Amino acid sequence: ASTNSWIDVTAEKFNYSLEHFVIPKHYENDLQSVMIPNGLVMDRIEKLARMIVDDTRGQQPLVVCCVLKGGHQFFADLVNFMKKCVTKQGSNVPLSLEFIKVKSYENDQSTGNVKISLTDEELAEFKGRDLLIVEDIIDTGRTMVRLLDRLKAFEPASVRVTSLLLKKTPLSCGYIPDYVGFAIPDAFVVGYALDYNEHFRDLDHICVINDTGKAKYAV
Ligand code: 5GP
Repeated sequence: ASTNSWIDVTAEKFNYSLEHFVIPKHYENDLQSVMIPNGLVMDRIEKLARMIVDDTRGQQPLVVCCVLKGGHQFFADLVNFMKKCVTKQGSNVPLSLEFIKVKSYENDQSTGNVKISLTDEELAEFKGRDLLIVEDIIDTGRTMVRLLDRLKAFEPASVRVTSLLLKKTPLSCGYIPDYVGFAIPDAFVVGYALDYNEHFRDLDHICVINDTGKAKYAV
């Protein structure tokens, strides 16, 4: 029951006014609202780390795969919490860290093209390993489905996926990760390492971009 349940922030009340939080001055005019303040993000990640460690079996190191670039902040904070978690047997889960660069977006539209940075030779090292894929956001789900297809061809022993955010969108292909932080409404979000054409990675809170921001940073 611990997996596949998440905090639903699709309700109106999760639309905090910018003036209630510290926002970098250079982004002040480019955002509509704060959707998830950084403190809540951190508290939820602590719980995700706990659930993942509780479900981890076996002795071999868990290969925690960071999906770059958006996932790097979530990955770093998740790994930090996981290092502090002990299993029911009183031991820590040994972790080994991997990085996969995946790119599928331009402006705020999924391009349908998914580029993965690892070579077949590098992916072959996943054979027989237990993988945890760490992603920032699932929108249509197509990026993750393609990544998983590619990884499974290299016969890992197990693959679990955690995503900080799961967007509720009619364009969803139906894919749901094993561990989700928050279900969010169908808006384009930035901050906490989520970018819009490489901007906003230096914003701590998860925020909704406005039309001024979209126009200013369009490519
Ligand atoms: P999908 O293939 O699930 O449609 O897209 C997943 C990828 O699109 C994510 O890894 C992320 O890079 C990007 N993405 C989707 N929605 C958003 C969003 O609201 N904000 C940002 N910054 N990126 C998004």
